[in-house]
Amino acid sequence: MTIANIPIVDLARQFNKFENELVEIFLRVGRSGIYVQGPELLAFEKHFAEYCGVPFAIGVGNATDGLAIALKAMEIRPGDEVITAANSFIASAGAIAEVGATPVFADIREDLNIDPESVSRLITSRTKAIMPVHLTGRPADMDPLLKIAQDNDLWVIEDAAQAVGAKYKGKRTGALGDIAVFSLHPLKNLHVYGDGGIITTKSPELQLACQKIRNHGLIDRDTCLSWGRNSRLDELQAAIANFKLNHIDELNDRFRLIAARYTNELSSYVGVPQACKNCANGQCGRENLCVFHNYVILPDDRNALMNHLAKRGIATKIRYPRLLNEQPAYGNPELALEQTPIASRINARILSLPIFPEMTDAEVSIVIDAVKEFYSK
Ligand SMILES: *Cc1c(COP(=O)(O)O)cnc(C)c1O
Repeated sequence: MTIANIPIVDLARQFNKFENELVEIFLRVGRSGIYVQGPELLAFEKHFAEYCGVPFAIGVGNATDGLAIALKAMEIRPGDEVITAANSFIASAGAIAEVGATPVFADIREDLNIDPESVSRLITSRTKAIMPVHLTGRPADMDPLLKIAQDNDLWVIEDAAQAVGAKYKGKRTGALGDIAVFSLHPLKNLHVYGDGGIITTKSPELQLACQKIRNHGLIDRDTCLSWGRNSRLDELQAAIANFKLNHIDELNDRFRLIAARYTNELSSYVGVPQACKNCANGQCGRENLCVFHNYVILPDDRNALMNHLAKRGIATKIRYPRLLNEQPAYGNPELALEQTPIASRINARILSLPIFPEMTDAEVSIVIDAVKEFYSK
């Protein structure tokens, strides 16, 4: 038996691929003498807004800050409730709590995304916003969520941290709700070399509010309208993100190709990501596009499969081991099974396989063969 060495993700490969361009960017920004709030940020914001099909984008320090800034811009405050998906990353809940509001956790559907019917049931007189998460780079089912929001006079804030470039019914994520937030963290599809995030919106009022909040509450160099914070996307990371944006479609195509191979080869052995509800004939296409930030299978015998793959030199990960309502921070983790039965049931099975654009076809084959081998025993 040969033992492979396949990590869940290998970020250095992308750095190496783009090394010449990245060094040029470092020299350009370094020599410019401008390191925050300069032309690189403006250029990236303009480019990113165009890419998403919205008029405005606002660079921020990271997506967790971005979510909190967006919630603040919508004047969400203590006493308010914001509904999000129980199976999201911690930051979705953390950002809601950070502005003093209460996170409320909705159940999911078999496609791992937030269930609009569960959202409906959780609305109270205190609900102010819905925060769907395009988990694993597959868009949430936005039409019913937007309808619920309209009927109940709620904001919709997309947690698009994992979904740059994904599309729902022909529109990019970031252009679906009132406001959206993307992460540029190294583990995300469009990533920089440190932390970064970007907010998108169609609303000029929300744009101005976000710009103000990320930069000390300043409306000009010396006038502070309301106390704010410092959460800016620096010039170097903005320039890198802007460069990577030129390549995001080809990078995402590679994520999608690897995901398609996994799905084609493994669907008769193990639970694979279900086609999003809106993909024609179960296939992503021009109208609906999943970008597979993460490829999640649903084995019944997770630990045994993990061990088998580890013995073959293949890394796997559970993203994320606990639902948000199972976290000690939530206070009542024992209620989770009752509150979000589908998420609880599915979460006990999720397992992420290696996926990153620089993964070779041969490595993908090794992973596929090792999973098949496990089930053929
Ligand atoms: C990564 C992530 C965030 C937070 O992004 P940061 O830029 O690391 O703060 C928020 N929500 C989801 C769903 C994420 O995956």
